[in-house]
This record gives sequence, structure tokens and C-alpha cells, in this order.
Amino acid sequence: MAGIFSFKCSCCGEVHEGSPSFGFSAPDHWLGQDDGIKSEGKLGDDLCYYQDEDGYHYFARVILEIPIDGVSEPFMWGVWVSLSRSSYEHYVETWSEPDPQRGYFGWLCNQLPYYESTHAMGADVYPQPDGKRPILSLHQTDHELYQDFIDGITVEKAQHIAELAMHG
Ligand SMILES: [Zn+2]
Repeated sequence: MAGIFSFKCSCCGEVHEGSPSFGFSAPDHWLGQDDGIKSEGKLGDDLCYYQDEDGYHYFARVILEIPIDGVSEPFMWGVWVSLSRSSYEHYVETWSEPDPQRGYFGWLCNQLPYYESTHAMGADVYPQPDGKRPILSLHQTDHELYQDFIDGITVEKAQHIAELAMHG
């Protein structure tokens, strides 16, 4: 039977309970922009865009789920992906009533702790009904994050990554 994730932290000594869940408040690309570009753009809980000398850049916040062996709830990352303008516009237009068959191609725009560079991994965004956060499906690659997404991770690895994410 699948259990609940909980561990005694080797960093702070506390017991952390529940499957780890970490979110990024912005695409990494946003953080590098100057205040003028940020003030003309928008950063919300679910959507982000800005314009620089290359044109407009659009992003959506989604959930990437990594299964944990023997644990019912996955390890969850709240990450940002870039979307094309046409994808972003359709995504926003159908926000309250998404097409469950429709995926939106995007590139991962956050660096996750533990892993080698996770920027620019290809993925598809799948909106969910009832106001749930969209789910991300990574494209096949030999990147370790893709392998973990498909195969899941051990409790020990989940603990190690959670400690890195919480305590640096
Ligand atoms: Zn801790």
C-alpha cells in the first residue's frame, strides 16, 4: 500500500511531512530583465509575459509531477514554461473551459535543484478542468529529469532533492 512521505531532515533536524512541493514564482528569464521591461510586462500566479528587443515572450505556470516509489503523492514542482504567442493566446482564451485533448508545446524555464541544466527541455502543457493547475509532460530525452519523470524516484532521492530545495 502506498504511504505518506515523511523524513527527518539531515539539514535542520525537523521532520518534514507530506510529499515535497516546490514552486518557482517566475520564469528564470523574467528575473534577469530590468525594471523597465518588468513594469511593461506582467507576472501573475499562472501567466507571465514581457517584451524585450527580441519581441514578446510568453510563459505559463504548470505542475511537473515526479512519482516517488511506494508513496501515493508525487514530488511536485511548480515550474514555468515558455509558449508561442498563438499557444499563449489560445491557452488564455480557453482558460475557464480548456480542451482536454489539446497540449501546448513549451520549453522549461526554471533550473531545478539537484539536476544538470533543466532549461530548454521540451515539454507539452495539458490544461486541467475545474481550475486545477496544468500538468506538464516532458519530451523524451536522456536527461535525468526525464528519466525520473517516467520511472519515478526512490524515497532517498526525494529526500535528498527536498533538502536541497528547502535548505540550498
Ligand atoms: Zn529541513
